[in-house]
Amino acid sequence: MQRGIPEKRKLPNVDKIVAVSSAKGGVGKSTVSANTAVALALQGKRVGLLDADIFGPSIPKLMNLQGEPRLSKNNRLIPLSNYGVKTMSMGYLVGEDAPVAWRGLMVMKALQQLIYEVEWDGLDYLVIDMPPGTGDTQLTLTQQLVIDGAIVVSTPQDIALIDAIKGINMFHKVHVPVLGLVQNMSMFVCPNCNHESHIFGSDGAIKEAKKQNIDVLGSIPLAEAICLNSDNGIPIVIADKTGTISKHYRDIAATV
Ligand code: ADP
Repeated sequence: MQRGIPEKRKLPNVDKIVAVSSAKGGVGKSTVSANTAVALALQGKRVGLLDADIFGPSIPKLMNLQGEPRLSKNNRLIPLSNYGVKTMSMGYLVGEDAPVAWRGLMVMKALQQLIYEVEWDGLDYLVIDMPPGTGDTQLTLTQQLVIDGAIVVSTPQDIALIDAIKGINMFHKVHVPVLGLVQNMSMFVCPNCNHESHIFGSDGAIKEAKKQNIDVLGSIPLAEAICLNSDNGIPIVIADKTGTISKHYRDIAATV
């Protein structure tokens, strides 16, 4: 153990922790987190989903859950469940509309509570939807917890990629293995004529992953069905009956 840096802790009764991160907001990190978690649950795994995005919690909406968690007999938060996944989010504790400044004051304390005071009750996987960026919150999480692997989500766009590289470097620095990069919104396929448009550039994330010697876990198209169903609280791995879009997320789940 290095002086000044606390030893990393494992969560009791949690086999594997997978962090899903993006160094920039709005690239589809929460959508990847929720769908990976649900895909694992569909495989019969015991799965938890922790929304560590304290300033912009979106797991309650994505998983169609709301309400205040109850406390167990030993004063631990009882997760809210849907689609076979146990979830915990700051959104349940303060409401999605709580002012950001107020959240800021209690951010570290809240994070500790979300990490250590939840009654997960035995999990094969805990998927953590990380806050975007590489600031204090991310560092605290990665330095305190034994994280078994990190998934970095990026669009093919240059600016998102530069940020993604920062995120990858952060994980290297704190000795968290990077499982790979997910290129999201890789192209738009017109539902009418099947024309493929590379709205955010072409394969930028894939090229960068190769340069960084990192696996590509998936390349997810920009699909209206993902957005529409997410907005209605239905993960695409549940909504997509044909399996063509949901396959991308199931493939990611198969790599963790
Ligand atoms: P982040 O967690 O990175 O901020 P979200 O997962 O919340 O991003 O996604 C941002 C928005 O983009 C949401 O409205 C979501 O439904 C939408 N979205 C994410 N991925 C896709 C995709 N592949 N195709 C279409 N819409 C997407």
